[in-house]
Amino acid sequence: MKLSKYFVPTLKEVPADATVTSHILMLRSGMIRMVSAGIYSFLPLGYRVLQKVSQIIREEMNAIGGQEFHLPALSPKEIWEETGRVEAFGDILFHIKNREYVLAPTHEEIITFHAKNVVKSYKDMPQIWYQIQTKFRNEPRPRSGVIRGRQFLMKDAYTLDVSYEALDVAYGLHDKAYRKIFDRCGLDYFVVGASSGAMGGTGSEEFMVRSDAGEDTVAHCSSCGYAANVEVAESKVKPIEREKESKSTYEISTPNVKSIDELCKFLIIDESICAKSRVYINDGKVVLILMQGNDEVNESKLTKLLGGNVRPGHPEELLEITGADAGSIGPIGFKGRIIADLKLKDRNNLFSGANKNDYHIGGIDFKRDVPSIEYVDLRFVKSGEGCPNCNNKLEVFTAIELGHIFKLGTKYSEALKALYLDEKGEEHPIVMGSYGIGVERIIACYIEQNHDEKGIIWNKALTPFDIHLIALNMKNETVVSSAEGIYNELKNAGYEILFDDRDAAAGFKFNDADLLGMPIQIVIGEKKLKENKCEIKIRKTGERLDVELKSLMSKVKELVL
Ligand code: ATP
Ligand code: MG
Repeated sequence: MKLSKYFVPTLKEVPADATVTSHILMLRSGMIRMVSAGIYSFLPLGYRVLQKVSQIIREEMNAIGGQEFHLPALSPKEIWEETGRVEAFGDILFHIKNREYVLAPTHEEIITFHAKNVVKSYKDMPQIWYQIQTKFRNEPRPRSGVIRGRQFLMKDAYTLDVSYEALDVAYGLHDKAYRKIFDRCGLDYFVVGASSGAMGGTGSEEFMVRSDAGEDTVAHCSSCGYAANVEVAESKVKPIEREKESKSTYEISTPNVKSIDELCKFLIIDESICAKSRVYINDGKVVLILMQGNDEVNESKLTKLLGGNVRPGHPEELLEITGADAGSIGPIGFKGRIIADLKLKDRNNLFSGANKNDYHIGGIDFKRDVPSIEYVDLRFVKSGEGCPNCNNKLEVFTAIELGHIFKLGTKYSEALKALYLDEKGEEHPIVMGSYGIGVERIIACYIEQNHDEKGIIWNKALTPFDIHLIALNMKNETVVSSAEGIYNELKNAGYEILFDDRDAAAGFKFNDADLLGMPIQIVIGEKKLKENKCEIKIRKTGERLDVELKSLMSKVKELVL
């Protein structure tokens, strides 16, 4: 492809509205352009990468017996009503006005619709059906470029099986295929929610990459691979030793002290001996939660523990329930269920609120003074805390979800009555799995992980072109004819070449080549030609090699693997 005729609108400056590296580089390298918030066009260079990623996914899906579909994006609203997902998706779902249609945000309903009509017997299964198709989601805050679009490409696969055991097999195949796909794309990823060993543990795994642009916060152990969303992550923390002697409780006047920091400053004590109180309402019942110092209550863990509806108490309720406002609440004299975080287990000589405004109590011994207290892990894990599975330390960081594999079970087959007959002629709902990958997210995440200050650094698998050929001076006939010759020779040998044949300054061409990021640059210039040589630059390392023209082909063969 000759760059003089190819539409690659590169930008020198960082576009005003882009803050995430991959977004900036995809715009600057002319891969994409925004049409409206969360809606992007892929331009020719970007589309080549999109096709390469899609092809890798396709090959690995075909390798596990997947059959490629192409389902419509437009679908009757009725079918989404039957599964209850018009309500479940809420504002995310795009509706077509005047017609009872929606734009599919995913395709479980449509797949189940087809399954219902054609998969009638146990003999018709197992099935692995997939597609690489556009999805529509009215994401409230589309940002970070194609990482969160309102229209995006997803590889979605669905499995149909007769039993949960068979689903485990299908799930295992996808787990392996996903690892192959992300490995082939050259991504540094980790898996959250993985059950160790036997499949069937959690029923769901998320494939993630670490990124500042991520919206999920995860705890990860680089040693054993433990990874979990902070909403559920656990850690080993040193218990705080109980002091030898318990003091008696005593009331302290603490005027205007409302927070743990203010209390520590006022009494000149460490936050580790303060029990912070938070009141929650669980289906109408009052629960007091005690956390150490400034530790925040992990409401996901709390909701999982209590079940039902859990919400923080309103300020007016607090006064009525405890007799005090938020800053002065504590366990002594509190009526209702009391749960403390594990870190506070059996502690003594603690400080907490007195359930009387502007007063705190010291010398609290949980064992002696609050015998009914329950201890549960209710913290958010923090970086540097011990991994729950090994002796390494956890790191907490933000990450982006690349893909998700999920054991659906019979939720959709029951709702849409996709039933099959077993050997005995008995009817059962089909057991389903669902498996998604964000195709654009693979590209953006790859760029997040593979770039430098000059631009993108592609690998062989994803690069839009194998080689970026640069003719330094298009006014020099020898340079032009020699570059043309090399271009044709490389092209005929089967390489994908982007040939910068523009009449532009060398510096400008070099900058563009580094920005676009093809793994190998071949530079044809007057000076080197006089010695029957050209220059090869390896984009990743910046290494430059002088190569004899006669050995160029063999050198390229060696480099483009
Ligand atoms: P997220 O939590 O990031 O919104 P999700 O849980 O909604 O993701 P799924 O419904 O499991 O995602 O979709 C499967 C895959 O599709 C995701 O793993 C992700 O790679 C991709 N994806 C989801 N939403 C978007 C989006 N708005 N833009 C681009 N890719 C997306
Ligand atoms: Mg989402």
